[in-house]
Amino acid sequence: MPSAIKKKNRFSDLWEATINALLPPRCVATGEIVDAQGMVSPVFWAQLQFIEDPFCKTCGSPFSFNLPTGALCAACMEQEPLFDQSRSAVTYNEASRKLVLAFKYGDRLHTVHTFVPWMIRAGQELIGQADCIIPVPLHARRLRERRFNQSALLAQAIATRTGKDYLPDTLLRIRHTTPQNGLSAKDRDRNVRGAFVVKKCSHATVRDKNLLLIDDVFTTGATLNECARILKSAGAETVNVLTIARVAKEEF
Ligand SMILES: [Zn+2]
Repeated sequence: MPSAIKKKNRFSDLWEATINALLPPRCVATGEIVDAQGMVSPVFWAQLQFIEDPFCKTCGSPFSFNLPTGALCAACMEQEPLFDQSRSAVTYNEASRKLVLAFKYGDRLHTVHTFVPWMIRAGQELIGQADCIIPVPLHARRLRERRFNQSALLAQAIATRTGKDYLPDTLLRIRHTTPQNGLSAKDRDRNVRGAFVVKKCSHATVRDKNLLLIDDVFTTGATLNECARILKSAGAETVNVLTIARVAKEEF
C-alpha cells in the first residue's frame, strides 16, 4: 500500500476514533449507544426480518416454507417481471418501515450507512454481475420538495463501496406521478407507464450492459418493472433490482 494511502487511512481511523469518543454512535432507531456508526441496537435488530433463502429466484420474495433453490413464486410463474432478478435486504415490517420513513422524509440521511451493508450482503450476486449502478429517479418537482433522492444516496454509496460505475442521470422521470400508496397493482402499473426515459446521450452507455437498479422499497414492483422496460428498450442486456426492503406479498 502506498505510504500516502496508509497515512490517510491512519488519519481517518484516528478521526473516526476521536469523533466516536466525543459523540458515541447511536442506534438510528432507538438512540441507544452502539459499537459503530450505522449499527442498530440488538433489541431493534431482533425486530428486523432479514430475507434469507428460501426465496423466489426472480423477484426475491421470501417463501414461508422450504422450496428448492431456484424455485419461482406463483406471481412470477404467472407473469414474468420485466426486470431479471430482484433482491431486498429485509421484509417491509413495522421496524424497517420506521427506518425507511425516517431516511426518506425525516432527513435522517446518515441511515444510509445502516442500509448499505445490508444491501451489499443481500445483493452480492447481483452486484457481482453489474457493470453499472442506477438509482430510480425522482421527478424534478419531487426532488425540489424533498431536496435529495434517497435511491441515489443508496446507489452512490453502494457503487463507491463496490467499485462499480454509478450512473445517476441516465434514467429520468419525465412525468410527475401521484404517489403509489393506496393504488391497486393494476393502477400502479398504469400510474407509472411512460413516466421514465433514458437520456438520449446515455443510450450508448447502457447498451449491452448489465445494470443494477436501486430503490428503497419494492412494493408491487410496478415502478421497477417500468424502469426495466425502458432500460431494456434502450438496449440494456440485463436489469436487476436491489432494494432495502420489500413488502411481503399478502400485504397488498
Ligand atoms: Zn417471484
